[in-house]
Amino acid sequence: SRRWGRAMAILKELEEKCATPAEKLKQVADAMAVEMQAGLSSEGGSKLKMLISYVDNLPTGNEEGLFYALDLGGTNFRVLRVQLGGKDGRIVSQEFAEASIAPDLMVGTSKELFDYIATELAKFVAQEGQDFQLPPGKKRQLGFTFSFPVMQTSIASGNLIKWTKGFSIDDAVGKDVVAELASAIERQGLNMSVAALVNDTVGTLAGGRYDNKDVIAAVILGTGTNAAYVERAKAIPKWHGPYPSSGEMVINMEWGNFRAKELPLTEYDKEVDAKSLNPGHQIFEKLVSGMYLGEIVRKVLCKMAEEACFFGETVPEQLKVPFILRTPDMSAIHHDSSPDLSVVGSKLKDILKISHTSLDVRKVVVEICNTVATRGARLSAAGIVGILKKLARDTANDGEGQKSVIAVDGGLFEHYTEYRKCLENTLKELLDDSVSESVIIEHSNDGSGIGAALLAASHS
Ligand code: ADP
Ligand code: MG
Repeated sequence: SRRWGRAMAILKELEEKCATPAEKLKQVADAMAVEMQAGLSSEGGSKLKMLISYVDNLPTGNEEGLFYALDLGGTNFRVLRVQLGGKDGRIVSQEFAEASIAPDLMVGTSKELFDYIATELAKFVAQEGQDFQLPPGKKRQLGFTFSFPVMQTSIASGNLIKWTKGFSIDDAVGKDVVAELASAIERQGLNMSVAALVNDTVGTLAGGRYDNKDVIAAVILGTGTNAAYVERAKAIPKWHGPYPSSGEMVINMEWGNFRAKELPLTEYDKEVDAKSLNPGHQIFEKLVSGMYLGEIVRKVLCKMAEEACFFGETVPEQLKVPFILRTPDMSAIHHDSSPDLSVVGSKLKDILKISHTSLDVRKVVVEICNTVATRGARLSAAGIVGILKKLARDTANDGEGQKSVIAVDGGLFEHYTEYRKCLENTLKELLDDSVSESVIIEHSNDGSGIGAALLAASHS
């Protein structure tokens, strides 16, 4: 029918606009490497902030003692404690607890957020058992993983530049987040000090390096997306501090804010951006990460409902609700392997209250998910190639057996199998065979928490 034809035209246009042929991805990788250089050259020199982490030594395996970590991400926060046993003991024991951040806390006041976090931390510390030993007279040390852009002033202090993802707490912007946390800890009557403030990417890099000495970069694909890597201190013109004895410095790229004319942006992306808490910012993140993928799919379905009566005469009311289609649901739709796509049918029914969908309609919904996820995964692979390029690890060299391991973490990478497979395949597609064998993607399960504890150990 004419309506079906219109729906197919919308789908076709989406696929064309989201296309990421290898040539285009190579341009994206080149642009990423160029922006990295610009961001390292001067403060404000690029959309990539290329933040100095003050981490100039990564874990060696010799770390010893009891350490805590607190990981504030986009949706959840985790607290953990780990007993480190030095070179031979490694991780003797570890425990964690997880809590969600209520939406009103994400847009309230700094004090409310940090008081809540400190309360949960205090509860967790109170449950410390016999497996964990603090030497007499010692204070508990905490590594604070904070997954938002911070201008660090030392390993254990730094001012919040801006919020991203679903957070918007105005009175925290510009403040030292460690001071905020430390005051809240004190208000709880908890005797604990913050030894390290680390971005989740930096934590993941540290945790990854503890397990594998070939880890050179870390990527987060969760609610948001970001990357960190080990740079030569000499290659950071904007660094005027003391020259680190390791000759290295970990850089938090804040790659979520990357933007280049090569990025395939559709009308749906522009709408998602315009309605977001941070319009004009974090454009790469809005194409790649878990907070936005489901929402982009919803926008496409909305257009099909409006312009092609894709779900019947009227536009389903639920389909108009922003963020109602979450990325985990999109992932379940995408992975449906049943012959009649029954998972797709029940997701449409349960979430969007659309019943009785035909197999053809369900197939189109899967294809939209595939298109949006594929674009995101391929762009994140291009970002990784950009890092390899910056480090001159994207071409075969004579450093025989040199491996480049990228530690990747985050709920999107962990749970969205098609996304992850596509990322890995795209990396192979973009690199020469001789190089792609030496580039390894490694899932670092909760590396950021352990990493923060390890950095607290080496900096306390
Ligand atoms: P954060 O990024 O908040 O630190 P996570 O790394 O756990 O937390 O990532 C959570 C995000 O991962 C969710 O917001 C969601 O977008 C994505 N995610 C979680 N589960 C799935 C899933 N099953 N399929 C696809 N994406 C998922
Ligand atoms: Mg996280």
